[in-house]
Amino acid sequence: MAIWDGTSGTAVDPENIISGAPKCPECSFFLVSDQEHFSYVCRKCGAIYDRDTLIRTGSFAAGKGTEVPESYIPFKISRGEAIGIFTEHCRSLGGLPKIYGSAKTLSDMTGAYVPFWLVSSEVEVNAKGIGFKGKQTNTFYNSNPAEDGVVRQEAYGTAKFRLKDIPFDGEKSIPDRIMASSEPFDLSELKEYSPDELKDIPAQKYDVVPVDMTDVIYRRLDKYAMQVISKVDFGFEQFIPYQDQCLTSYRNISVRYVLLPVWILTLEYDGIRYTYIINGQTGKLSGDFPESKQERSEQKERRSAQNALKRDLIIRILMVLVPWIIILVIIGIIGPENITMFFGYHPLEFILALVSAILAGVLIFHFAPKLFLKKTRKDYKNYYESMKKPVPASEPDAGVYFDTGFPLTAYETGSNFNALETGWKYRETTLSDIIKNIEAPEED
Ligand SMILES: [Zn+2]
Repeated sequence: MAIWDGTSGTAVDPENIISGAPKCPECSFFLVSDQEHFSYVCRKCGAIYDRDTLIRTGSFAAGKGTEVPESYIPFKISRGEAIGIFTEHCRSLGGLPKIYGSAKTLSDMTGAYVPFWLVSSEVEVNAKGIGFKGKQTNTFYNSNPAEDGVVRQEAYGTAKFRLKDIPFDGEKSIPDRIMASSEPFDLSELKEYSPDELKDIPAQKYDVVPVDMTDVIYRRLDKYAMQVISKVDFGFEQFIPYQDQCLTSYRNISVRYVLLPVWILTLEYDGIRYTYIINGQTGKLSGDFPESKQERSEQKERRSAQNALKRDLIIRILMVLVPWIIILVIIGIIGPENITMFFGYHPLEFILALVSAILAGVLIFHFAPKLFLKKTRKDYKNYYESMKKPVPASEPDAGVYFDTGFPLTAYETGSNFNALETGWKYRETTLSDIIKNIEAPEED
């Protein structure tokens, strides 16, 4: 059962609302406004309220007074197996510092039940974006296809779905990023918490509660909401949302307190502390490793490519300067006064020499860099290619936490996000539309 009991519709004492800063109807603590999600959050009791109506819409309450976990997942990976997974991975990377293979390091592999908050919420996204083809019932729209022949239009839609049991670790000492990349856990194996069964391996106590990490929670929920919405087509062939013009709100946010099994290994190398997590249920390893031999050699390549680029630039500049240097040297040898004298008698040759000197300069300036540019481009390409690094492990996609028991509903709406009663229409007809329609009658 969820820790908070939904009591939506809580009446609000008007006296509680001071100008702009209402108090929590339940505990009288000041509410913090969350503009982005149209809600107020009570930092004390964790209650969440609709910003307009102050009706309770959920709660981040967990961990404040509720000290006992609801459930836990038992270990499936033994300590020996965890050490095996780690050493095997180190071997596959190759060239890691000696400390990674030392028996002393591996003996520090520690099991722990880490406190996690499982956050669930109903999500409503009011999306604005571009719809491609599919629906072409509007005469104005059909008569005005885009220049490239692709029929597209601005579209609005609303989608409702539910995200379920997204884990957030309630323990500060392990970096969130590393903890999140050890996901997912198979939550169908959650068992009711009983302290007797957790005797062998210690359960850590949480040191951060959901109400103090609402930013982190909302950020991940928002990210997942956008992932879901980018897969909804609202009846178009394709719908691409404007990421920054979608409004997301959450209903019935609830939090469960559970313990999840992990093996933790920390070590220090070169003054940097490295933390590794092995999922105690699935054996998935996560953590950052110091540069391996391969990375070091790649870095060397990058440096030499950089130097090659610098060399190219210098050579190209010299190429352009060379003819002018030669001319100056010739003038120096013959003597400037002789040259003046010669050209004084031969004005035609002077013009010819001047023109060819300018022409030569232009030609060299124009073509020399181009000859080198090809090579430079290749060097650049190699350089940027070598900068590419494998994508680091990150938290799972929204699909993992999509609640299929609460199906997605999506429908197209008008620009004010009210559902359209009678099918689809492009947008409110404006005076300029009418004028355009008169000017450009439909072709059929
Ligand atoms: Zn409160």
